[in-house]
Amino acid sequence: MTFSDLGINPAIVQALEGNKIFKPTDIQLKTIPHILQHDEDLVAVAQTGTGKTAAFCLPILQKIDPNVGKIQALVLVPTRELGQQVAREFFLFSKYLSRIFAEAVYGGAPIEDQIQKLKRSTHVVVATPGRLIDLLERDAISLQDLKYLVLDEADEMINMGFKSEIDQILKYCKKDINKMLFTATMPADVKQLIREYLHPDFVEIRIHAEEFINQKIEHQYLIYKQGEKLDYLKAFLSEHKDQRGILFCRTKTAAKRLAKQLAGFEVTADALHGNLNQESRDKVMRGFKKGRINLLVATDIAARGIDVKELDYIIHYHLPEKTDQYTHRSGRTARAGKSGVSVCFVKSENLEEIKALESELNIQFTLLSVEPVTDAGLNTPITIYMNMGFAQSFTKNNIPEFLVEEAGLNAADIKNVVVEDSRSYFDVPANCEQQIFINLKGYKLFHRNLKLSLDAENSKRNIY
Ligand code: ADP
Ligand code: MG
Repeated sequence: MTFSDLGINPAIVQALEGNKIFKPTDIQLKTIPHILQHDEDLVAVAQTGTGKTAAFCLPILQKIDPNVGKIQALVLVPTRELGQQVAREFFLFSKYLSRIFAEAVYGGAPIEDQIQKLKRSTHVVVATPGRLIDLLERDAISLQDLKYLVLDEADEMINMGFKSEIDQILKYCKKDINKMLFTATMPADVKQLIREYLHPDFVEIRIHAEEFINQKIEHQYLIYKQGEKLDYLKAFLSEHKDQRGILFCRTKTAAKRLAKQLAGFEVTADALHGNLNQESRDKVMRGFKKGRINLLVATDIAARGIDVKELDYIIHYHLPEKTDQYTHRSGRTARAGKSGVSVCFVKSENLEEIKALESELNIQFTLLSVEPVTDAGLNTPITIYMNMGFAQSFTKNNIPEFLVEEAGLNAADIKNVVVEDSRSYFDVPANCEQQIFINLKGYKLFHRNLKLSLDAENSKRNIY
C-alpha cells in the first residue's frame, strides 16, 4: 500500500517522498482513507512514534479549500514544542500545495507577532490551549469557519489539566464541526472527554491496545547505591558516549542541577524544563536536534511528545509517577521503526516498582549491570578571587550554597572553606573540577567576572 493507494494526491506524495516517507504506517493506513472519505468524528489510538501527526495532517491538507482564506482546521496540542513540530509537518507536506498556510501559536512567545501573522490568509492553526484562548478573547482569531478540530496527544492534554481550556475553546466553534482525537493511551478521563464532546456515532481506530508499548523498545533497569547515583549515571553515559538520549527528572530543579553536574563530563548535556523562557527552550531543542547536545535532561512536561530522530536511549533517573508516564517517556525512543533502550534507575529496595511496570504494561525488564567509577581522586584546592569574600557578605556557609546552586556541586563535596576579605578558598574532589570551571565560566558577580584558579599559589588556570 502506498500513500497514493490511500487517496493522497500526487503533490502531497511528492512532498512526503522529499522527506523520505514512502510507506504509510498502520495508523495512517486506517485513518487516512477514513478521514478523506467521511466527516465523522474519529478517535485514533496508537502507540507513540507511529506517525499519528501525518495521519491527520495529510488528509486535512487535502480536504482544505485553498480558495477560502479562513481557518478551516485547528489542532490543539499540549506543549509549545509539539505545536512547532506539528506545524512543521503541515508546512513540509504542503510544500507543493503552494496556497495552503499553517500557523503555530503558543505561549511564551510574543503574542503581537502571532496576531500579525494571523492577519494573513491562514488555513490551519496549531495551538496550545492557553494562548489560543488569549487570542480568541482579543478577537485576534476567528473559528467561525472551522471545519476540523484535532485534539492531538489528548491523554497529555488531560494530564496537564487542559480540560477546562478545551471546554472554553469549543464555545467559539460551531456545533457541527468534525472532531478527531489522537492519543497513545486511553485513561478514564480521555474516555470521558470523548463521551462529552464527540458525536455518539464516532468511529474508533485502534492499532495496538494501550497496554502494549512500542515493541521495539528494550526495557532495562540499573540498581544504584544510595549516594552514588551520579556515578552510576556517568558510567552509563561513558558506555554510550557517541549516542543520544533523553534523561527524565521529576522536577525542574533536579533537571537544572543535573545538567550542571554533568558539565565537563564526556557527554554534552543541557536541561529542558518549564522555567526556561521560550528562547532558551528553542535553543536547547535546536542544539539537541542538530546533535550539538547529546543528552537532554528534561522534565516530563517539557519533553512531552517531542520527536527527535534516532534517539538511542531514555533514562528514567527518577522513576515515573504514573504508568502511562513510562509509556510516554520511553516512547521518545524507538520511533519510526528504529529500536532503542529505556533504562530505569532504581534502588534495590524499590524493585517492586519495576515489577509493577512489568505487569501493568505487559513488558519484561532485564538487569543492566554498570560499574560506577567512584574514585573521586584527591581534593583539589580552588580559589575564587576578586570580589568574593567577606566584603561582599560571603561566609563559610553561603559559599557552599552558591556552589551548589550555580555549579551543581554536592554540598558534602565542598570542604575546607576559608573566606578572606575579597577572596575565598575551598577544596573539591578532583573530578568536580571541570564541572566548576564550565558552570562558572563568564559568571558575573557585582558586575565583575568571577575569577577562579586551581591553586592560590601557582594559578595554572584562570577564568575571567
Ligand atoms: P506519534 O504522534 O504517533 O507519536 P509522530 O507523528 O510524531 O508520532 O511520528 C514519529 C516519526 O515518524 C516522525 O519523525 C515522523 O516524521 C515519522 N513518520 C511518520 N510517518 C511515517 C512513515 N509513514 N514512514 C516513515 N516515517 C514516518
Ligand atoms: Mg503525536
